[in-house]
Amino acid sequence: MTLVAVSKLQPLDRIQQAVAAGHRDFGENYAQELRDKAAALTSVSDLRWHAIGPLQTNKAKYVAKVAHAFHALDRLEIAEALGGRRTANPLPCYLEVNVVGEASKTGVSLTEVDALFSRVREVPGLRVVGLMTMPPLEEPEACRAPFRALREAAARLGLTGLSMGTTHDFEVAIEEGATIVRVGRSIFGDRP
Ligand SMILES: *Cc1c(COP(=O)(O)O)cnc(C)c1O
Repeated sequence: MTLVAVSKLQPLDRIQQAVAAGHRDFGENYAQELRDKAAALTSVSDLRWHAIGPLQTNKAKYVAKVAHAFHALDRLEIAEALGGRRTANPLPCYLEVNVVGEASKTGVSLTEVDALFSRVREVPGLRVVGLMTMPPLEEPEACRAPFRALREAAARLGLTGLSMGTTHDFEVAIEEGATIVRVGRSIFGDRP
């Protein structure tokens, strides 16, 4: 299980403190912020940047350049924009699923994810490694069913990666098989 420390909106020195403590996996939501932080920390050669937020095609170049993985793939256009820049070094990606169908959330539905997978798996320059979800901010226990549904969908597609669980619900996510959790506030405190 990998712990991604979500450092979005946190100043560089907070990341440096975590690096000094031995941490290497960091999550960022915004493409330009990711670009700038990665540029500032190139001296740490083994950092792994996880791009975890929704992405626009015109900003895909920033993610393609530095990311170790992309967690919010929900459109073919984004897959093509990323993959076109990673042909030599395919980018591991998670398909984002909006499991409970909240209108406000990004991601495809559980019924659309098979079609998305069959399209993006053909795109050169990326490798689909799993599924990702942001569950509703309800009681952590209420996230168990969506996490389980994500795990079942991944199994059906033959995918082993499960990016699920935040500060709010990571314990339940781990119980339900998360291979990678994305935790911000319980590591860094509230975002400024
Ligand atoms: C901000 C964010 C997280 C981390 O949330 P915390 O509440 O700080 O743990 C995880 N995943 C995504 C996609 C996020 O945007």
